[in-house]
Amino acid sequence: MKGFGMIDVGKTGWLDTPEPKLEKPTDALISITGVASCTSDVHLVQSGIFDSVKGHVIGHEAIGVVDEVGSEVKDFKKGDRVLVPDFSPYFGDFASQDGMSNHSPNSSRTFSPNLDGLFTERVLFERVDSGLAHIPDNVTDSQALMVADMVPTALTNVDFLDIKFGETVAVIGIGPVGLVGVEAAAISGASKIIAVGSRPITKTVAKQNGANVIIDYHDGPIVDQILSANGGRRVDKTLVAGGNNDVINDAFKVTRPGGKIASAVLFVVPEIKIPTASEDFDIDYKALTLRSGRLYLERLMSLISYGRLHPERIITKTYHGFESIPDAFEYMTKKGPDTIKSIVLY
Ligand code: NAP
Ligand code: ZN
Repeated sequence: MKGFGMIDVGKTGWLDTPEPKLEKPTDALISITGVASCTSDVHLVQSGIFDSVKGHVIGHEAIGVVDEVGSEVKDFKKGDRVLVPDFSPYFGDFASQDGMSNHSPNSSRTFSPNLDGLFTERVLFERVDSGLAHIPDNVTDSQALMVADMVPTALTNVDFLDIKFGETVAVIGIGPVGLVGVEAAAISGASKIIAVGSRPITKTVAKQNGANVIIDYHDGPIVDQILSANGGRRVDKTLVAGGNNDVINDAFKVTRPGGKIASAVLFVVPEIKIPTASEDFDIDYKALTLRSGRLYLERLMSLISYGRLHPERIITKTYHGFESIPDAFEYMTKKGPDTIKSIVLY
């Protein structure tokens, strides 16, 4: 079997990987039918932050079809069309019972540096009944792929903002995550939404998704621009979905006292020492805001099914065929003027 992975820092390629086999009665084997590249995959390869990714298949956004299920799997069968999330939560410990399954070391599956990811042909998925999600019939493959990471990342952050009807919201960064964040803020009851980006394609989708004012960070300090767009007042809530380390400080300057700031970006500032993979590779789940689990993912897909959320708007390029994964990854690495997000349908 083949998979697309990290060969060295900044270098990717095809890898030979073993065929997965059912291990536990609660597992399933899934044939992958589509994948999407994430900005985080690009960062992972380019930064070399986790040395142990070398030699492993990357990718953590996928859909597929169930091939085979273990004897104890109740709700999934061969042929089911499924969303294959980044990880399958483990619900048997206190972290998970406290609503933070991403803090459980037992939850990690892909995107952990020393495990193979989803840019491959077939995968073993653990704890299927609680971790895998059925795709509703009227949700397309492309839409479902956006629920692997973009939608839960954006909506977890927007949930955290706890937007009250009529509040003003700034969304700093309108790549795929920020753009879904704009639409989520709109359906959560925000009144004025001020979005910060630069490329025309992202500005167009931001408007479509409900942004009222679009600010270009090349046109001067974003703090001044956001305050001016909000009549000199600070906004109630701010979502950070892009930018450098200075942006988090800007977020504090534009958000009112008692407001809230949520960030999808993992800031590596000098004061915070991020443990390396060898010290504690689970840091990716502790630091990121990823959420998974079947109930949550199926709820997110029902937002698409009932026309509330339109994540397909962020897909700017669809490749066909497993062999085109390198092209789709390259497209996300180069990020041209018309790039938001690429997908591959096998
Ligand atoms: P992206 O495509 O790189 O988008 C970043 C956005 O920020 C773009 O709109 C970009 O504008 C804008 N930007 C760049 N520099 C800026 C600056 N100085 N000030 C203000 N805006 C600036 O990223 P993405 O895929 O949407 O992901 C957003 C972040 O979330 C990334 O850091 C990613 O690693 C992270 N992420 C986290 C999770 C998670 O927590 N689970 C999951 C996925 C992604 P341009 O148009 O000029 O590029
Ligand atoms: Zn991601």
